[in-house]
Formats: sequence, C-alpha cells, structure tokens
Amino acid sequence: MAANKDRASLFLAKYLAGLDESELEKRLATKPDLPYQRLPRNHKLTDEAVQARWDVLELDDTAQQQILDPQTKAQMQIYKKNIENFIGTIKLPIGLAGPLRVNGLFAQGDYNIPLATSEAALVASYNRGAQLITKAGGCTAILLNEGVSRAPGFAFKNVHDAGRFSMWAISSQEKFTDIAEQTTAHGQLVDMRITVEGNHVYLIFEYSTGDAGGQNMVTIATDSVVAYIIENTPVNPEYHFVEANLSGDKKASAQSFLSVRGKKVTTEIHLSKELIKKMLHTTPEKMVDYWRMSAMGGVLSGTIGVQGHYANGLAALYIACGQDAACVAESAVGVTRFEVNKDGGLYAAVTMPNLIVGTVGGGTGLPSQRACLEIMGLAGAGHAQAFAEVTASVALAGELSIIGALAAGHFTRAHKNLARGAEKA
Ligand code: NAP
Repeated sequence: MAANKDRASLFLAKYLAGLDESELEKRLATKPDLPYQRLPRNHKLTDEAVQARWDVLELDDTAQQQILDPQTKAQMQIYKKNIENFIGTIKLPIGLAGPLRVNGLFAQGDYNIPLATSEAALVASYNRGAQLITKAGGCTAILLNEGVSRAPGFAFKNVHDAGRFSMWAISSQEKFTDIAEQTTAHGQLVDMRITVEGNHVYLIFEYSTGDAGGQNMVTIATDSVVAYIIENTPVNPEYHFVEANLSGDKKASAQSFLSVRGKKVTTEIHLSKELIKKMLHTTPEKMVDYWRMSAMGGVLSGTIGVQGHYANGLAALYIACGQDAACVAESAVGVTRFEVNKDGGLYAAVTMPNLIVGTVGGGTGLPSQRACLEIMGLAGAGHAQAFAEVTASVALAGELSIIGALAAGHFTRAHKNLARGAEKA
C-alpha cells in the first residue's frame, strides 16, 4: 500500500488546498452530538413501511417513481426473503450474447446468454466470442469437481489442547456428516480438512450443495455441527466462530484456486485460422503472441491464475440470473491458455475452479432473474451443473473476443465507438 512520496505530497497539496488546520480538524472529527435522521424502525415490507423510508429521503417524486415503479410495487412481496429496508428495484439493461454452442457433460445445445450491465461493448464482445465458438461447432465444457466449504475456527489455551481437539474432531467426522445432513435434504458433507496454527484449529467442511449456490446451506449445516462440537468436545475452546475466513468465501484465494470452491469447469475449442481471420481479423499466431505476453503480465503483476477479463461476463451473468454477485470475487480466477495447434489454427482453453452458481435458492427465484435463467432453459432444479458449464463457456467467449480485439488492434476502437456513441443511432 505504499505510495511514491512525491506523488503523495502532490496529492495532499491538491486536496488540502484552501483547508486550514482548524477547518480540517472540524471536518475529520467524529460528531456524536450531531442529530441524524434514522430510517424507520419498521423493517417490514408493507406499503406504509416502504413509503416511510422514502419520506426520510426527502426527494422529489422522480427518484421514487424510477425505483418504486408500479410493477415493482405490485409484486414487492416477492422480494421479502431477499432484501431488507426495501425501497424498490434498480433497472439494468440486459443484452443477449449468442447463440453459444456448448458441448458439455451437462450443457448441450445453443444458449442465448442474458448479460445485465451498463458497460458498453461488453455484450458486443461476448456476442462475438459466442458466435465464433458456435460457428466452429461449439466448445467442449466439462464439470470437473464440486464443493462449497465453511471453515469454523476454534481457539485453545495452548497447542496441546489444540492437538487433543484435532484428534477428537478427526475421529468424529462421521457424526459431523450425520448432523449436517439433518439440516438439508440436498446438501452433503463430503470432506473435512484440518489446519492447526499454534493454538488455533480450523476445520474446513466441504459440501455438495445440489442445485443451490449453497452459501446459506453450508452455513446452516456447519452451525449445527459446531453446536454439536461445543457440546461434546473433550477439550473446550476458549472461543470459536462458525466461519474463520479460511473458506475463501467472496475473495480470490490461492487455496480455492488450487482446489475448488463451488464448481470447477474446464472448456476448450479448436478454431481454424480461416475462421479467426473472418471473424476476428487476426491470426492464431498474433493471438498467441498476445496471450503469452499477457500471461507474463499476469505473473509479473501477481494475479492468482492468468486470465483476461472473466469478471466482465461473470458479473453481468450473475446479476442477470440471480446469483450472488459478490462471488465474482472468487469466481473470476482461473487460467486461460492459447496455443497454435498442429493445423495452424488456435487451441484455446479456459479453466475456472471457483464458480459459485446455482439454479435454485438465493436470488434465482426472483421474477426477472428466473426469466433470465429460463431464456437459457436453465431455471430450477436439475440445471446447476449445466449452468456452470455454460458460465465457463461464456468466459471462454469473452477471452477469445478480447484477445482477438487486442491482437487485431481493435480494442480501443471498439470501446470508443460503442461507448461514445459513434456507432449508435
Ligand atoms: P438458499 O436459498 O439458502 O438454499 C437453497 C434452498 O433450496 C434450500 O432450502 C434447499 O433445501 C432448497 N432446494 C430445493 N431444491 C434444491 C435442489 N435441487 N438443490 C439444492 N437445494 C434445493 O440458497 P443457498 O444457495 O444456500 O445460499 C445462497 C444465498 O446465500 C445467496 O443469495 C447468498 O447471497 C447468500 N449467502 C449467505 C451467506 C450466509 O452465510 N448466510 C453467506 C454468503 C451468501 P434443503 O436445504 O432442505 O435441501
């Protein structure tokens, strides 16, 4: 977090200009006695409670009409389990990218991908990548692994107690599995790992979560297991927490990159040099030159994995389809690899080990989010594995398109034209 001293000094001079010491002190001081307008205590989702929140904001009607439009108002009870202090819904444009042909273990067919974003050029880029893949007959996509973890932590007096506890925990895994399974019909405790650090013990419980993304499911199951542990352990911890930040939840981590968090999918495609020329206006060699240099750029900048812009497509797809958008933090890691194949064409592969996706639970049942899953034929039970394969294929489409644009020297032009309106009538 270090900053160059000259730039720091320029920055401070610029932003502190005109502020004398007493004014600065006044601005930055805590203000416990200043009254504030609190939000109404009524957290319920009723017409009165929603209006009371708007009244606190003291805005003219325009903002309220945008956010609490008639349709949102009429169906607002649908959002009850997904939001607190509700005031309405935000509208985001959704564009389609596709068709994207996926030849997967689970995903089979041509998918039109709904992407919700306010970023110009994003849908155009994924659309181009999807069409390229489809024209080549589709990409192969394989779900390799599944598992969502929760990692409770236990602190002991000393490492001796931590060791005794660890021995007991290891011998109790079967009991933990039974207890976890009493909390869910679709989740299963499939593995337990253990990390001892001084007098701290972390238990890493890994679950299969059926068609749900599963973060709630694994939290509820782990909470029950922790309650059993506290009642039955031969050596009591001094304190404990249901999650001690070793699960990789909502952050990119080397641990998740090296194993799995959610669903791990690998995708690949071979593209002829003619198709690359026709659709991307470049060559496989140029794309591989770019990939090699950008892979090294990733290494030199210390990224986890090597990839171009997974987060673009993931964020837009997750938001459209009612996924937990914060899980883009861990999902947007992986490895993209491009090579010139034996026929002089391009071999491209994308492997993503941390796709936290589901087709039930979370926000997947909300009206427009469910509609987006329906566009792909992936709404509801029985579709999570296919959705994961489609998600990784979307990332492959994005990598092909962006690397094609950079190799052809079109990257800036596309953004300038689409974002600044030159190609929009
Ligand atoms: P969830 O809606 O809490 O759980 C999924 C529900 O769907 C369960 O009640 C499950 O029943 C049911 N279900 C029905 N058919 C199923 C099927 N075929 N496969 C799997 N489940 C099925 O959703 P979640 O995915 O566990 O949690 C996702 C949400 O949790 C996200 O919105 C995320 O933001 C939030 N979240 C919570 C925490 C937390 O710690 N609380 C942390 C991060 C995120 P059974 O369980 O009875 O089988």
